Amino acid sequence: MNALEVSDLNFSYGSREALRQVNFNLAPGRFAALLGPNGAGKSTLIALLTRLYDLQHGDIRVGSCSLRQAPRPALKQLGVVFQQSTLDLDLSVEQNLRYHAALHGLSRHETGLRVNAELARQGLDERRGERVRNLNGGHRRRVEIARALLHQPRLLLLDEASAGLDPASRLALNRHIRTLCREQQISVLWTTHLLDEVQPSDDLLILHQGRLVASGQADVLSLAHGGDLDTAFTCLTTTGAA
Ligand code: ADP
Ligand code: MG
Repeated sequence: MNALEVSDLNFSYGSREALRQVNFNLAPGRFAALLGPNGAGKSTLIALLTRLYDLQHGDIRVGSCSLRQAPRPALKQLGVVFQQSTLDLDLSVEQNLRYHAALHGLSRHETGLRVNAELARQGLDERRGERVRNLNGGHRRRVEIARALLHQPRLLLLDEASAGLDPASRLALNRHIRTLCREQQISVLWTTHLLDEVQPSDDLLILHQGRLVASGQADVLSLAHGGDLDTAFTCLTTTGAA
């Protein structure tokens, strides 16, 4: 069974079309990079996957659950880090996590266990009592990742999670998510406009002007469209869309 199935997705903001005929699957335990220039439709896709917006056309399945027909069990399997941070800066790291656990209906006991486990996994144990405001950008993102994983989702969605970080923190975060994916068998959809965050073995989805102009393993796509990812991306995002 696929971790994610997106079928015939179309979405418009009024008369402005943002996604057209988007179809793809994500296999369990895979790292998929959703690559596209600004305005390609990446955040719109994340908003549909997380049901921030209602589906207009097509369907999304998370595991065996259709987002249209069984939204609650579908959403339960998702963890998400949005493009804009949604942490409360005046709460501590731990308070931010506990608030999220309460929203997911975790018991007090379970919450304690899960918070401890995620803080340790993200290397944030010693910062748990600190206000988020005092953390740097990379650590704030790690708090969001810890929060996204609290309810043990099978699929983690990250929308430009590395944006605004310095180059070293950016690549460290990317590596960190890859380790989680490999070691915990979590499926990841990593959204970015930066080519250096894609690796040859990734499942690559290239979105351009609301259309999926290519999908497949990154090294295979590169070979098929000019040899390297840079050339392939330029070729697909200048001539790929109608
Ligand atoms: P990306 O995340 O890839 O930068 P978005 O999904 O944010 O792209 O945007 C896709 C397209 O939809 C863009 O043309 C953008 O201007 C438009 N768009 C995004 N949000 C809205 C909105 N709330 N209202 C109208 N148009 C929007
Ligand atoms: Mg975006």
